[in-house]
Amino acid sequence: MIVANWKMHGDKQSMAAWIEEVSNSINLKNINPCIFCPPTCYLEYAIRLINENGYHIEIGSQILNYCFEGESLTGGISSTMLKDLSVEYVLVGHSEQRNFLKENNNVISKKIEKALNDELSVIYCIGEDIDTKNKNETYLFLSKQLDVLGRLQSKHEDKLRSITVAYEPIWAIGSGLNAEKKYIEKTHEFIKNYINDDLGWSNLDIYPPVLYGGSVNLTNCEEIISSTAVDGLLIGGASLNSETFSKIYNLS
Ligand code: PEP
Repeated sequence: MIVANWKMHGDKQSMAAWIEEVSNSINLKNINPCIFCPPTCYLEYAIRLINENGYHIEIGSQILNYCFEGESLTGGISSTMLKDLSVEYVLVGHSEQRNFLKENNNVISKKIEKALNDELSVIYCIGEDIDTKNKNETYLFLSKQLDVLGRLQSKHEDKLRSITVAYEPIWAIGSGLNAEKKYIEKTHEFIKNYINDDLGWSNLDIYPPVLYGGSVNLTNCEEIISSTAVDGLLIGGASLNSETFSKIYNLS
């Protein structure tokens, strides 16, 4: 799975050009899903362009909101609304939302639950900040984020196959400093082992793919994806350019 996360960038014109150029450039023999996450206000526009032209791009939402019972949220987007638009994937737990919107693991767990109930595929983002890395506490930090998935398994066992994990070290996002291949490999192995053994998903025969995100570009993508522990990429900045993104997709 190769995911383009446009964050808060673009407009209708640049999006239409991007969708057409990427669709015409990506190798259709590549079995990796090609997923585009536009800004929320353009979801319907992007879906229409893709459907009208029969393009091989799938759509993900950058946003999903959740309200506890009795609360209301002006401006919120629910999983039911996303499903209604035929959105297939949703990013949950992105570090920018954890930081700026003060999202905690409780809310994130509810969001994942809602998304799974509405049959959306969840791309669950996790990753450590630089202080945690420097204190050598990355695995402890990630295990707490992964425990959110553990909370779901008794109620949603049948839907766990719709979960993908995206490992995005916060210090690598948008910094131009990707994590080194060895570091990525070891961390992905930790994530996979934790899910298999500590959460016990290997007993259920469920092995979620683990993507890497954080300053992926045309120069480093081949090395990163060559690791057997890396199942795909989540790409921010470098996804904005259709040529760069298509080349990365084709190399993956
Ligand atoms: C992201 O925001 O998910 C991301 C990986 O961004 P970038 O590729 O720009 O580091």
